[in-house]
Amino acid sequence: MKNTYVLHFDQSNYDQPIVYRLIRDYDLVFNILKAVILPKQESYLVMEISGAKEQLEKGLSYLLDQGVRVDPINKSVRRNEEKCAHCGACTAICPTGALAVERPDMVVVFSPEKCSVCGLCVTACPFRAMEVSF
Ligand code: SF4
Ligand code: SF4
Repeated sequence: MKNTYVLHFDQSNYDQPIVYRLIRDYDLVFNILKAVILPKQESYLVMEISGAKEQLEKGLSYLLDQGVRVDPINKSVRRNEEKCAHCGACTAICPTGALAVERPDMVVVFSPEKCSVCGLCVTACPFRAMEVSF
């Protein structure tokens, strides 16, 4: 599983090695997208956290126990129809079949209900037609 969260720290926990323990104790992988760290004031991190579902739930529970407020960010991927040239580059990389060539017209069809929001097509598309929205 991979989800994006905003982690809010306050004066009681901003200097604790909380993120380090997420990796060591819960075997989670993270990617910091944005960080605002203000000593002795409220700070926050925007993080993508991934790992096994059970470990992710335990890790989130640990954060709450430490007094860290956790807000999930809902992401979705959409296709900008005006930019899409139906080149097909994204269909080879999409792991779920959400992007597929439809025969006989050979147009690329996007099925949002199959999309896992992995983001691979966003960087693969040469026309920047696939967009992430929060
Ligand atoms: S790679 Fe981009 S332009 Fe090409 S079919 Fe996919 S979304 Fe359309
Ligand atoms: S975000 Fe991932 S699953 Fe969704 S369409 Fe793009 S490559 Fe496919």
